[in-house]
Amino acid sequence: MGFLDKLFGRKGDRQTVRAKEDEAIADIACPHGSLVPHWDQLGDMGKTDAVSYYTCESCDQRFSGEQGQRLMSEAAERVRVSEEERAQPSEG
Ligand SMILES: [Zn+2]
Repeated sequence: MGFLDKLFGRKGDRQTVRAKEDEAIADIACPHGSLVPHWDQLGDMGKTDAVSYYTCESCDQRFSGEQGQRLMSEAAERVRVSEEERAQPSEG
């Protein structure tokens, strides 16, 4: 028995369980990083500024053209930042 007490420690075991439950219940925010463009007019297909709406591949949420473009630029910014962080030497 004693070695288990040492292994898990004695601090706030109940709190730890509650925190885990909260984590599971909380919604996982979708970054909407993969938006699919849709065009109402076939003639406009391929024109980024004529997109009628976007849908998110991950969560199927629908966005207007303006919203979609903002989300995509935000996603691109996130990628750029994380790549910059990776490029920076962690040691030295
Ligand atoms: Zn999404």
